[in-house]
Amino acid sequence: MKRRIDHLVVKIAERCNLNCSYCYMYNHEDKSYLRRPRYMSDEIFDSMLERARRYCLARPGLRMGIIFHGGEPLLAGRARVQRFVERTRAVLGEMLDGIGLQTNATLIDERWATLLKHMNVKVGVSLDGDAVNHDRYRKDLRGRGSHAAAVRGLERLQSAGALGGVIAVVDPDGDGRATYRYFRSLGVRKMNFLFPDVSHDNKRRLYGQYGSTPIGDFLIQVFDEWYREDDPEIELKVFSSLLSAMLGGKAGTEAFGNPLLSFLVIETDGGIHANDALRVCEEDIGESGLSVVHHDFDDLRIGMPLVYRLAEEGIPLCATCGACPEVYVCGGGNLAHRFSRANGFNNESVWCADILKLIGHMRHSTAIHATP
Ligand code: SF4
Ligand code: SF4
Repeated sequence: MKRRIDHLVVKIAERCNLNCSYCYMYNHEDKSYLRRPRYMSDEIFDSMLERARRYCLARPGLRMGIIFHGGEPLLAGRARVQRFVERTRAVLGEMLDGIGLQTNATLIDERWATLLKHMNVKVGVSLDGDAVNHDRYRKDLRGRGSHAAAVRGLERLQSAGALGGVIAVVDPDGDGRATYRYFRSLGVRKMNFLFPDVSHDNKRRLYGQYGSTPIGDFLIQVFDEWYREDDPEIELKVFSSLLSAMLGGKAGTEAFGNPLLSFLVIETDGGIHANDALRVCEEDIGESGLSVVHHDFDDLRIGMPLVYRLAEEGIPLCATCGACPEVYVCGGGNLAHRFSRANGFNNESVWCADILKLIGHMRHSTAIHATP
């Protein structure tokens, strides 16, 4: 079934003040950030907005979400962010489906928090857990942990009422139960946990030292704690997605269900790119070869075939996934995690065993034994 692009991930800053060891922008296969401008210009931003406006106008009723991203988007500066937000509202008007910003929060001071609240920008904070877990991977450019600054920023956002939620990458050395409790002790009510982004070509190098299901084991601990708390106001995306799919609905996320692409990434130079996580696979794999300066979002068919296929046709699952009893729930997992240089995307997820274990545990706990 065809799906429309309904949000844009806009890279307003190409560089970052941190250097997280797992970062797909800087520490993986793709190094294309080196040849792009550090910041998105007003001209590129305006071109992007005009393409978004045309795309929505051609589809009455469609509304487009805009998410400021990076690198670290706050490096673009207050004046530029404020200008971009104002232009977005002016150009898209009723066709705008909200503005978000994903940040490491270390640069959030009172002025940023107040400004983001004032502009009604929902802010997502990347935080991996307590200081020990977070600082294991999320260090600044001089190798110092970033946890204290990130939590200070998060608390400022909470005080201002601008915090959307927290996103954590699962730390296989961490304790899922303690990490969930830590987030709750910070007053976080909306969170998500991401499977680490790796392909079949680099998982062994980066995560080979762990047991057979380190991510599944961590998430099972988180699930038990979340399920035990039993508070419908605590949103935890990875679990609500899987539960929705287990009940016969859509996962509603790129992490499961093999969906068509619902978003595009716009680079600082205006380049149109697919799913960011594909950067862990190969240099330039997610490039469309198109730019908002010259192309509409309906021109994907004249660019590199992969982005068009992701948005319009989908990528078939491998035979193993096709025969899997949980295929309607998992759908092969995140696309990037299916990749190998030998077979392209014709593989099960590198986290297949973890996903199966997690789904099995969730089924057992909730007594949802079959997917309609
Ligand atoms: S804060 Fe985000 S963009 Fe910056 S290095 Fe860490 S993961 Fe990469
Ligand atoms: S990745 Fe594994 S769990 Fe998911 S559908 Fe494929 S075989 Fe099943």
